[in-house]
Amino acid sequence: MIKITLPDGSIREYEKGTNSLQIAQSISEGLARNVLAAEVDGQVWDATRPIEKDASVRLLTWNDKEGKSTFWHSSAHLMAEALETLYPGTKFGIGPAIETGFYYDVDFGDRPFSSDDFKKIEDKMLELARTKSDYIRKQVSKSDATAYFSEKGDEYKLDLIKDLADGSITFYTQGNFTDLCRGPHIPNTGFIKAIKLTNVAGAYWRGDESRKQLTRIYGVTFPKASELSDYLHMIEEAKKRDHRKLGKELELFAFSERVGMGLPLWLPKGAALRQKLIDFLQRAQMKAGYEPVVTPHIGHKNLYVTSGHYEKYGADSFQPIRTPQEGEEFLLKPMNCPHHCEIYKTKPRSYKDLPVRFAEFGTVYRYEQSGELHGLTRVRGFTQDDAHLFCRPDQVKDEFKKVIDLVLYVFKALGFDDYTAQISLRDPENKSKYIGSEENWLLAEAAIVEAAEEKGLKTVTELGEAAFYGPKLDFMVKDALGRKWQLGTIQVDYNLPERFELEYTGSDNQKHRPVMIHRAPFGSLERFVAVLIEHCAGEFPLWLTPEQFIILPVSEKYEEYAKKLLESLNNTDIRGLIDLRDEKVGRKIRDAEIKKIPYMLIVGEKEVENGTISVRKHGEGDLGGMTVEAFSKQLIKEITV
Ligand SMILES: [Zn+2]
Ligand SMILES: [Zn+2]
Repeated sequence: MIKITLPDGSIREYEKGTNSLQIAQSISEGLARNVLAAEVDGQVWDATRPIEKDASVRLLTWNDKEGKSTFWHSSAHLMAEALETLYPGTKFGIGPAIETGFYYDVDFGDRPFSSDDFKKIEDKMLELARTKSDYIRKQVSKSDATAYFSEKGDEYKLDLIKDLADGSITFYTQGNFTDLCRGPHIPNTGFIKAIKLTNVAGAYWRGDESRKQLTRIYGVTFPKASELSDYLHMIEEAKKRDHRKLGKELELFAFSERVGMGLPLWLPKGAALRQKLIDFLQRAQMKAGYEPVVTPHIGHKNLYVTSGHYEKYGADSFQPIRTPQEGEEFLLKPMNCPHHCEIYKTKPRSYKDLPVRFAEFGTVYRYEQSGELHGLTRVRGFTQDDAHLFCRPDQVKDEFKKVIDLVLYVFKALGFDDYTAQISLRDPENKSKYIGSEENWLLAEAAIVEAAEEKGLKTVTELGEAAFYGPKLDFMVKDALGRKWQLGTIQVDYNLPERFELEYTGSDNQKHRPVMIHRAPFGSLERFVAVLIEHCAGEFPLWLTPEQFIILPVSEKYEEYAKKLLESLNNTDIRGLIDLRDEKVGRKIRDAEIKKIPYMLIVGEKEVENGTISVRKHGEGDLGGMTVEAFSKQLIKEITV
């Protein structure tokens, strides 16, 4: 008998060689029907693979990340089987699961291929799925594996086998299709109920441009037909909300090839929105004891040699700027931190002075590959809502708690209420790759874990995900469509204080190194605005909306009254405009609705006579007449965060 420990801590006894599917069956039939794979002592296995010794077992279903990726990877095998059936002689590269779905890189030889072929392949996949073929695992020797794929004439698989150690090679077979794969897979193809091929692209074998370009076919599959329709609906909705599309329609930002790829131009309305975000965070930061600083967009190359950025990113980034002075070189600022370290060093610091918190909306430049650029989410110049906190080791936890408060305040004000925090700690097996003393690491890791717990954050902890210079806490938010985005980050750093020889005088009158914390609640203004646009579909919270109201005079006769109204309403918090076009008021209302302007103030004869306005709300309709004072009061109340 073997002892199986389940996630709730309970221990059950089974015959040696029992598999996870049978364990599931012993718990409930319903569970067994949903088990896709199992984590056995930390490794994901086929649910049908026999367990030979005592083990911890976690059953994986569609609701688990690993369950989904096993499902999608198994779907890649199913697609390969369909391709081999439909196009005999097709050769196969690799077919992994990705974030949403899977792909397979294939070589069709001279056969042309396009998305027009998708339907035929999807149908064949469904037909094969319905046969409920088991995915059967088989250990093979290197020579047998080589013989099999030599016979088949698949040079890509042979290339992969070359790098594998004899004794570690497995084949998986479902139906008539056998693939080289280490697994794991779902029990059988019958789990796959809905299929959609989504894209086709070129991909070099092993990512090497000097080798053959294969055809990469992307797809996504589901265990229920309804999940596919939900997914397709989400894709449609995401297209409508695409920040690149809305950014143009709402006149927020633009790109110009003449200015340069990946360098956003903020248009007046976008700049107004951006300024409101800056003001909002600035106010919160002032209250939390931050001190604004300003540093230049470039820095001497030596600054980044000292910080280590030059060594790490120098070759792949914007190249140094030369001056008429022989040998003098500057770099575009890739990070604000080195500048802030120099600010810290401008005077001696005592333990009583700490923490100090320098905040800067600092614009940085990083050379992203042109293929990686994407709207505002991947750009070459962006502004971080950056700050660096310098504190004593015993202050790390308190500082973390305060930063968490700030991040949550930002999320709440902007309507992100579904988020988790990822705590990234050291790999306990490999402590030598991290810099900083054991003592400080233990202190900082415990501080983050405790701070997150005391703040009641929903967290996941990832071992081995810490940077080499310190542990961190990242916030992942879910937007209105359920998509996850990484936004705010808080990171401890033992490296830069060392490299810049930062010091403070302790109560013992000795010199000590401060701990540095990098933090950015938005991440960057560019990325944050992109996420915000897609989250709220361009309908920003009222306080953030660049134009909160529009005055619509019914005819030319009421223009004077409208202009006076605008003058009395506009101030630093409330902004609006007038539609003076020679159009019917119905048309003006429709256009204002399209622009998602929250309030429409209609003025005609009656309003001028009574000294009132007739108010319409975007998406809601007529609110009736009111005085300007009443409207202004209501607006101010609504925009107070
Ligand atoms: Zn596989
Ligand atoms: Zn930093």
